[in-house]
Amino acid sequence: MSLLKFQAGKRIAFTTNTNTKPMPRETPTAVPESVPLHHTALQVFHDWRPSDISAILNETRSQFSQLLDQLSEVNATSPDVVDTLTQTFREFRHLEAQQNSLQNNIDLAKSKYRSQCEELPPVTWETWDAYREGELRAPHLLHVFEETERDSESQPPPANSADELSRLYRALPHIAADPQCILPDEAADDDVQIAGGQIELACPITCKPFQRPMISRKCGHVFDHAGIEQYLSAQSTRDCPQGACGQKVSMRDFVPDRLMELRCKITRAREGSRKAQRALENVVPI
Ligand SMILES: [Zn+2]
Repeated sequence: MSLLKFQAGKRIAFTTNTNTKPMPRETPTAVPESVPLHHTALQVFHDWRPSDISAILNETRSQFSQLLDQLSEVNATSPDVVDTLTQTFREFRHLEAQQNSLQNNIDLAKSKYRSQCEELPPVTWETWDAYREGELRAPHLLHVFEETERDSESQPPPANSADELSRLYRALPHIAADPQCILPDEAADDDVQIAGGQIELACPITCKPFQRPMISRKCGHVFDHAGIEQYLSAQSTRDCPQGACGQKVSMRDFVPDRLMELRCKITRAREGSRKAQRALENVVPI
């Protein structure tokens, strides 16, 4: 509505200079909609931005991220909890995508509106009648916005989000069922570290369970931080330690592997819970 008000609220100032053409008999209080915005007003409008809610969206994202860690740490990954959480995250992603699309469409519509206005001849006494009678017509802001929205709706829907948090939430139902399972999008990748149809949760260098799994951005192989640091301590760039990989890697190619962290956390929490259960059974025989 504010866009409409902006358009409807256009005003023009008339001077009473007797050397120019006589004033129209009825001085208008509002300019017809066919008259484009004055270039100063157009610039003001172009600089206008709707309220930015990206900080709220980022904060919500960060809470979803913390929730994922907390759930896996306290072993609260039952199917019901996981279903509810993944569904809520999907709804959040949908709202986030809608907000981004709205922001893009507003920016696009503003640019289109400005360039269409700038193509029109300036409003002068010579062009005034043509504007008033509608021979020359400024674009209608709402129509430009609606057209932009229609164009964006006809675009194909975006593929699965590649951001890390979305990947983790897509993986959650699978790894909550089996922390060592191969994910659907990993199944075609022969290169992942798979033993007997399952993902190994131990570092191939240290042969111990992962403490700080790090993934190579070059080849996707995962090693524990301590293991890869030790491997690269004498020589900063070496062949990837995974047999037959052949990629040259250095420490800066490695980033924390949150997916592997999640697999390990869920596994540790379940082992801890089983141990506690056994200890309880020993104290109080059931
Ligand atoms: Zn590798």
